[in-house]
Amino acid sequence: MNYEILNNVKDVVVALLYLTSAIFFILGIKNLAKPKTAPRGNLLGASGMLIAVLTAFIDFGFVINVQAELIESRFDYWYIIVIALVLGAGVGLTSALGVKMTGMPQMVAVFNGLGGGASLLVAGVFYVLAIGGAEVLETPALVATALSGSIGAITFSGSFIAYGKLQGLAIVPDKPVTFPGDLAVKGLLLVGLIVLSGVLVVSADAAHWYWLIVAGGLVLGVLLVIGIGGADMPVVISLLNSYSGLAAASTGFVLGNIVLIIAGSLVGASGIILTSIMCKAMNRSLTNVLFGGFGGTPTSKTQDDIYEGKVTATSADEVAMILDSAQRVVIVPGYGMAVARAATPVRQLTEALEARGVDVVFGVHPVAGRMPGHMNVLLAEENIPYEKLLDLDSVNPSFPHTDVAIVLGANDVVNPLAREKDSEIAGMPILDVDKARTCVVIKRSLSPGFAGIPNPLFANDNTLMYFGDGKKAVEDLVKAYKEL
Ligand code: NDP
Repeated sequence: MNYEILNNVKDVVVALLYLTSAIFFILGIKNLAKPKTAPRGNLLGASGMLIAVLTAFIDFGFVINVQAELIESRFDYWYIIVIALVLGAGVGLTSALGVKMTGMPQMVAVFNGLGGGASLLVAGVFYVLAIGGAEVLETPALVATALSGSIGAITFSGSFIAYGKLQGLAIVPDKPVTFPGDLAVKGLLLVGLIVLSGVLVVSADAAHWYWLIVAGGLVLGVLLVIGIGGADMPVVISLLNSYSGLAAASTGFVLGNIVLIIAGSLVGASGIILTSIMCKAMNRSLTNVLFGGFGGTPTSKTQDDIYEGKVTATSADEVAMILDSAQRVVIVPGYGMAVARAATPVRQLTEALEARGVDVVFGVHPVAGRMPGHMNVLLAEENIPYEKLLDLDSVNPSFPHTDVAIVLGANDVVNPLAREKDSEIAGMPILDVDKARTCVVIKRSLSPGFAGIPNPLFANDNTLMYFGDGKKAVEDLVKAYKEL
């Protein structure tokens, strides 16, 4: 047998399989862009990962020793790998099947954190084994090792703090935790990480420096995320998602593993794009999310200034009568629809209206709810056609000729204060529901939304407030409408 040819064949097969899995990842992301094709996107991504994992076994599991003319197996501990695979797949499967829609951000946070942790461990072990075997690592590989250690550690601890905030764990306060000089401490830690990384690159045997970098990264991750309010966690999670990708890509450079570099770069780039979309939709800079509270100048208007004597309450029967003479209805869902689990009655209302020839569409704001695409996912689960979910630019021009806008558990995304220069949410693009002939707002009280500010929409002449829990309110409305 010609072992040299065999070795070349192995390299080509491994490279082709890695390339195939990278193509699967890219097609997966492309399909994730639309709710309709998203399940296929997930399947493609998972298949790409399966191909990558199996290929790694061929790549790292067998060494073809050309000189000694033999194939060596590195599978001395194969049963540990199998146990790890079964455990990992089991945990992934049960958490994905068991998670509630509203718990999705927490799950993503944990998975991001574990991704960062895995990257720092793999790069660390590779580095320690290499220097233990007196192997001389090139400077780029050493830089990548330092990056894996620091970014992986920040992602790991930061993600678990984000998880704690979203889950409402008592040990992690929801409010931003700051202390005098915290910015300086974070700055010093960052400088320390850069200096330690420099030491790791120039010194020959620096295993202890690597673990010090990891320790510094863990502390920095905690400090960075603990200083941000719980409500901003979705943006933070999307940013940490990007970090986990960067950590994986760095580990890919350490191992010389192409698919890890490609997959990590894809996650890094898509995470940062998502972060920027979310910041843009809230009209906030990333610096403001990471280091400041919500918005700029606080509004001088109090709840009483805005609402006193101007709010008109309504009932299911009255709203049903208004809907009875409507030709076009726009439903605007928000966070409250998710909390109330009101998507099913919303679908029933849509069907009842359409059965009587009413044109019904949904106005979906990019940051409605608490995670990107929150509303799209909930409505897609109810099989509401994707064509009916209109974005800001498509739906806003239609409000002046809309008979009824039904705002369900949305608040900030329909707050006209965004049009005023001196408000906290100044400049945030909103859905122009106040321009519809009648606007019905379904929520439990006049309480503010995420931004914590009053909403003049509730006091408008053409607004009717239908107070109640989102699910019960829409169910009663469907009943009243069908009885007409
Ligand atoms: P808001 O947070 O502005 O308002 C939600 C409203 O839902 C509340 O005013 C609440 O009023 C109501 N509500 C809560 N529970 C129920 C219930 N059971 N039944 C009926 N209503 C209920 O939500 P929006 O979706 O309008 O806006 C999202 C906000 O979150 C924006 O400020 C956005 O910037 C922010 N955000 C979004 C992110 C994302 O990725 N989507 C990420 C980070 C932040 P009441 O208590 O009176 O019922």
